[in-house]
Amino acid sequence: KASVMDGDKFDDDGEPSELVESRAKSALEKLQEDRKTLPIYTYRESLLDAIEKHQVLVIVGETGSGKTTQIPQYLHEAGYTKRGKIGCTQPRRVAAMSVAARVSQEMGVKLGHEVGYSIRFEDCTSEKTVLKYMTDGMLLREFLGEPDLASYSVVMVDEAHERTLSTDILFGLVKDIARFRPDLKLLISSATLDAEKFSDYFDSAPIFKIPGRRYPVEIHYTKAPEADYLDAAIVTSLQIHVTQPPGDILVFLTGQEEIETAEEIMKHRTRGLGTKIAELIICPIYANLPTELQSKIFEPTPEGARKVVLATNIAETSLTIDGIKYVIDPGFCKMKSYNPRTGMESLLITPISKASAMQRAGRSGRTGPGKCYRLYTAYNYYNDLDDNTVPEVQRTNLANVVLSLKSLGIHDLLHFDFMDPPPSEALLKALELLFALSALNKVGELTKVGRRMAEFPLDPMLSKMIVASDKYKCSDEIISIAAMLSIGNSIFYRPKDKQVHADNARLNFHMGNVGDHIALLKVRSMKRARDIRDQLEGLLERVEIELVSNMSDNETIKKAITSGFFPHSAKLQKNGSYRTVKHPQTVHIHPSSGLSQVLPRWVIYHELVLTTKEYMRQVTELKPEWLVEIAPHYYQLKDVEDALSKKMPRGEGRAQEG
Ligand code: ADP
Ligand code: MG
Repeated sequence: KASVMDGDKFDDDGEPSELVESRAKSALEKLQEDRKTLPIYTYRESLLDAIEKHQVLVIVGETGSGKTTQIPQYLHEAGYTKRGKIGCTQPRRVAAMSVAARVSQEMGVKLGHEVGYSIRFEDCTSEKTVLKYMTDGMLLREFLGEPDLASYSVVMVDEAHERTLSTDILFGLVKDIARFRPDLKLLISSATLDAEKFSDYFDSAPIFKIPGRRYPVEIHYTKAPEADYLDAAIVTSLQIHVTQPPGDILVFLTGQEEIETAEEIMKHRTRGLGTKIAELIICPIYANLPTELQSKIFEPTPEGARKVVLATNIAETSLTIDGIKYVIDPGFCKMKSYNPRTGMESLLITPISKASAMQRAGRSGRTGPGKCYRLYTAYNYYNDLDDNTVPEVQRTNLANVVLSLKSLGIHDLLHFDFMDPPPSEALLKALELLFALSALNKVGELTKVGRRMAEFPLDPMLSKMIVASDKYKCSDEIISIAAMLSIGNSIFYRPKDKQVHADNARLNFHMGNVGDHIALLKVRSMKRARDIRDQLEGLLERVEIELVSNMSDNETIKKAITSGFFPHSAKLQKNGSYRTVKHPQTVHIHPSSGLSQVLPRWVIYHELVLTTKEYMRQVTELKPEWLVEIAPHYYQLKDVEDALSKKMPRGEGRAQEG
């Protein structure tokens, strides 16, 4: 098929281009009309005045009032982009992409031209770009190349209430540069009314409130706690569908797997409802969902049908979905937690805070009165939920941030201007890890290794693995591994899926369909891994590491991995479980791992996840002597001694190393 280029007379459907243009224009006009109906539109002039008058402004407005999509456009229309770009940060990748796509539509320009986005490993901007939506982590990285953000006229730290680690660090950095760049405008925007805290932090910056339209929301609690919230959420959705007046449903789930499971079950159960019941359109939305499928949630629901959106926390404030009348809130989210004593990080399904529960409920009352079904008791709500979510900086591994700050020349981290400081043990732990990885020297200064590591937008252990691959002459394989690890578990890890597939096969419904979709997803993930790999290859060049392949020697590849991940070593126990070496803790090989039946004596793992047990995910066999060879400052002979001196009992079904 011939590609259609600019200036071609016909578009894909063979229509004359003039016709297409006039239709596009009217769509654009419609979008312009829509912009004027947003709550923020009434305040356009006074908002621009306030921005003109004050260098730093805190902006608060209900989700959906138009902060993210409109403010950058207003500033552009008012001429700010003549002085430099407008950057708008989002805590989430999907939000950055989706909002940029929306704004480019509203401005009638091609995404990536005047309006673009930048997320890790994906830069959709160009020379022309004046409105740049980006993840907060990407702006943080831009500081490394441009410490005064000279190319920006305005920085809008959006969704500030999310208090992600990167947002909190950005606060400290932008506050600092605002002092010596009086021409830089700083906007801190937030969906919650807890804005005084932001104002206090930014030297009593004024607060601009955008009154939202809000309709009453009826809140329902369950009478008794639900044993299985996923099932309860599905049942509640179907009950609403069958018994309640029109209006779309938004269900908050904790992650991709849960969403996929719910989708399968719902599809199956709605088939049993018969033809008298209206169509139920199921729309999943989570971070790893391919872009084309993401836009489905924004499509208007056809007459007579109902949409049910199965979303992660992303729909709490980052994305606004019109037409939602019913919200189902099981009361959980996936949250990182960190134990600064052991240095272990895990993703846990955790009860949400009251603030989150309120945001979720509010999503149902945007365009009319709504209903929120909380799948927990009123007692739970009032007595068990925390008021606010603990900011990420207080519950995460700080190694990455410490490395970035060190490479920005910020050495005194204990006195960094944190809005809420992290526990000092966590800071020390990060320094300790970076020292162990040889990224810092004894007095805490960045080493040559550390400087090279900081070039990679990856966790320090991954960066170290890459830097070490230079020595082991296997950089080619190592960046492939790093790329695959970076796209997460969307390629190998789908046990829940398989479970459901098995059920499907038995019931013999639509098997082919589901299979093809998943296959497509996998191909897409592979493409993404390929893109990431290409970028890592570029970065290798920057830090002067030669691209060398050493496929014939697995041992050197494993040694390079060990150079980054030696703190994550574990030893087999008699009962088939493992014990981590440095801070002894019982862990298991994840059932999705190729080694889960093999049970090697010593392993190194990529990460721990806590589901029913504490599992190690992405596991590689290791020779214990490597630990002492590669990290003599970290492991003493006694840590691995018994392995070297006496024979360990063999694990069941252990295969010989091949
Ligand atoms: P806020 O940032 O205040 O929560 P937004 O600027 O994100 O508000 O959204 C304003 C309006 O823009 C929403 O009500 C929605 O109708 C529309 N909108 C935002 N993003 C999209 C999108 N990707 N597709 C369609 N409509 C969108
Ligand atoms: Mg927003």
